Amino acid sequence: MTPGQFEYHRPGSIDEAVTLLASHGDAARVLAGGHSLVPMMKLRLSDPAHLIDINGIDALKGVEERNGAIRIGAGTTQAEALASDVLSETCPIIAEAVLQIADPQVRNCGTIGGNLANGDPGNDLPAVMIALGARYALQGPGGGREVAAAAFYRGVYDTALAADELLTEIRIPTPPAGHGHSYQKMKRKVGDFATAAVAVILRMNGGTCEAASITLTNAGPTPVEATAAAAALTGTSVDDDAIEDAAQCAIDVADPADDMHGPAAFRKQMVGEMTRRAIAEALSRAARS
Ligand code: FAD
Repeated sequence: MTPGQFEYHRPGSIDEAVTLLASHGDAARVLAGGHSLVPMMKLRLSDPAHLIDINGIDALKGVEERNGAIRIGAGTTQAEALASDVLSETCPIIAEAVLQIADPQVRNCGTIGGNLANGDPGNDLPAVMIALGARYALQGPGGGREVAAAAFYRGVYDTALAADELLTEIRIPTPPAGHGHSYQKMKRKVGDFATAAVAVILRMNGGTCEAASITLTNAGPTPVEATAAAAALTGTSVDDDAIEDAAQCAIDVADPADDMHGPAAFRKQMVGEMTRRAIAEALSRAARS
């Protein structure tokens, strides 16, 4: 299949992109890396009359840490995020998850913002951003606003992004040094979307878990915050019983579909197993004081 006809626009600034989005409304789509949008266009599941290519907007690129927050430009490619010293030093779970997306060809063009704005529950980065407490900066014709990653996802391909808004930046409170982290993904083969995947962030104080967050990928129509699973760890030494309690809570809250990744019952069990592994790895990486 080939895409339908469209008019191609290449704005040089955020303002120009937002003006184009505002004037074409629902008939326009933002083109970032194109690795999710173009396949949808080829299948005619998306048929925009206007494509607004944001790859020429320098202001959407780059990673920096400022005033206790990490800022990732939405147009930063997944490969650029992998190579970022700021991210590897302050927030290594992002590189760990990015490395599990597809293959180098996809990561060379695919952007962080595209992965987050897409709204596909199979995308790996939304769960990571929710676990990190990230907020998304959105720019529309009426100005800017911030939405918590946890409030952004509403359903399959349904997000808080309005048709005339651009995701410009991802803002993450810099995790404390010594935090534990892990992203565990079970997939059928290299480069595939998750059968089940789990992001875990935790902080230990001495031998006790002070705080934890656990979020699931591809375990429902949106990323799933496993709050009861995180609560099962908090205040414990993260011993085997606590890990098992958390895994059961994650299984209980997961609601995957029967699909090409496997039957729902199997995928729920894989949520449990990925949760066990992610907690154990996060614990092994966490400083104890
Ligand atoms: P595009 O495809 O250009 O856009 C995706 C959607 O987001 C479109 O609706 C677009 O309008 C919107 N959009 C993009 N940027 C913005 C913005 N700044 N503001 C507002 N809207 C925006 N992903 C995974 O997470 N895990 C995988 O295992 C995985 N495997 C893949 C395997 C293959 C073979 C392929 C082709 C893709 C795979 N992907 C996977 C998807 C990949 O990560 C995509 O790059 C990503 O989902 C979309 O990013 P993009 O920059 O390509 O966005």
